[in-house]
Amino acid sequence: MPNLLDFDLDGLTGWFAELGEKPFRARQVMRWIHREGCDDFAAMTDVAKTLRAKLAEQAEIRAPVPLKDTLSADGTRKWLFDLGGANAIESVFIPEAGRGTLCVSSQAGCALDCAFCSTGKQGFNRNLSVGEIVGQLWLANKLLGAAAGKADGEEDKDNGRVVSNVVMMGMGEPLANFDNVVAALRVMLDDHAYGLSRRRVTVSTAGVVPGIDRLREECPVALAVSLHAPDDELRDRLVPLNRKYPLRDLMAACRRYLDRAPRDFVTFEYVMLDGVNDAPAQARALVALTREVPCKFNLIPFNPFPRAPLRRSSPERVRRFAGVLLEAGIVTTTRKTRGDDVAAACGQLAGQVKDKTRRTCAGATETLEGTRS
Ligand code: SAH
Repeated sequence: MPNLLDFDLDGLTGWFAELGEKPFRARQVMRWIHREGCDDFAAMTDVAKTLRAKLAEQAEIRAPVPLKDTLSADGTRKWLFDLGGANAIESVFIPEAGRGTLCVSSQAGCALDCAFCSTGKQGFNRNLSVGEIVGQLWLANKLLGAAAGKADGEEDKDNGRVVSNVVMMGMGEPLANFDNVVAALRVMLDDHAYGLSRRRVTVSTAGVVPGIDRLREECPVALAVSLHAPDDELRDRLVPLNRKYPLRDLMAACRRYLDRAPRDFVTFEYVMLDGVNDAPAQARALVALTREVPCKFNLIPFNPFPRAPLRRSSPERVRRFAGVLLEAGIVTTTRKTRGDDVAAACGQLAGQVKDKTRRTCAGATETLEGTRS
């Protein structure tokens, strides 16, 4: 039975055509599902009764199941969502003045195995479906709307839709699940669904070069690239994917991306690891490396997780490193660590993954058993 969360508007229109239904019906249903957060066909009051009955018989609207809802002291909220089959993923909502950012997962686990990332240590199970990716946004709006209603008893001005920005920076490598991620992005951008602008949706990649080129063709949203090292020798060790797509190719792909990108820069994320990649000379090497790529840097102080063999750079070293980049004219921000008291910070998302690879280190910080009690 098709899950309507799996469809972008084209897909839904196509399936409706098979049912003998007109395209405007697909738009109507799309709005009910995504703008109203509706999962009950009977409640779609402006949709013809016969179609409602047909849909109730032949389709479903099914999102992942919330297992756990954790609120950090700084307002960051982390959800654990069950995908069935012993897999669960995490999504994080980060409220800031004037915007609310949802950090969305794209895979159950991750196959890339970056040295500093907790998700990678759990291994990889599978790609998320379109409905599982979109479902995180669908659920977040629902859960946030419900909470707002409860807290102040007022009518929710945003109609419960408090997510204004999406970053594909949760568990997994989005460009390794390309087709489903792009279909999900289309739903996020669609005016009949979430209507987010391309600059408010960011795909973050560890550097899948062909994926960057395809994204440029098919759905150029804002691009972030997890750089983490100024040279191939170090990057090979921190981000093993670099052996396949070395820095020269990655920089060229970033440059190509920019002629379609909704912003005139690429964001480079750079996790600050004490004594590993945080020396001023390495910052100077970054300036040279990125000379031909208009960019901003986002420095992320390393967030530790159980058994991580690395340490966070001191604020003083981060400041010096940022200073070198700034002096070279590169806009550089240091990411404020959010939600680390509940392991919701970058690189700490673990969920629960039934690993299919043969990785030995079990880095999961949550277990399904633990969260059901
Ligand atoms: N696979 C994609 C999406 C994950 S985004 C990518 O690599 O971009 C998650 C971001 O957090 C990435 O920039 C990642 O490198 C960073 N990160 C991972 N582990 C971290 C940790 N322990 N501390 C701080 N940042 C981390």
